[in-house]
Amino acid sequence: MKVRVGISACLLGRPVRYDGRDKFDPLLAETLAARIEWIPVCPETEFGLPVPREPIQLEDDPARPELRGVHSGCSLSCAMRAFCRRRVDELGEFDLAGFVFKAKSPSCGLHVAVFHGGETVGRAAGLFAAAWMERHPELPVVEAETLHDPAALEEFLAKLKIEQ
Ligand code: SF4
Repeated sequence: MKVRVGISACLLGRPVRYDGRDKFDPLLAETLAARIEWIPVCPETEFGLPVPREPIQLEDDPARPELRGVHSGCSLSCAMRAFCRRRVDELGEFDLAGFVFKAKSPSCGLHVAVFHGGETVGRAAGLFAAAWMERHPELPVVEAETLHDPAALEEFLAKLKIEQ
């Protein structure tokens, strides 16, 4: 049986991004799919946001950032944090061995810019990634772009206990 690993759904080619596009990554969706059973998650659309949608970003305090619409300023923080905790709970049924996240996303990224007054004031994990890591601090996580470095890919596969 293949190891099951969570993944940001846009990386598998699902057109769920705010602009209606995807972030298809052939290394993940094709090459590694031979050895990994991907369990795709798109926190934003599963939360109920439409496609296309207003882009959102992290703001204010990097230690506990707000998630707000870039143009409207509407806050999704409380509802999104609650949804992410529930979704992480639900994913327990898959017994995931790790997670591959889309970088720079305020929901999925691991080191995302936090803005205040038009300036970057720090970095934080996106809200879903943060909820995942809080629940599963022992499991390996990585941003997809990192896996294009052969050494980083080898290290991640080793953590998943997948033979090279
Ligand atoms: S980065 Fe995450 S929230 Fe954004 S489109 Fe991809 S899966 Fe959805």
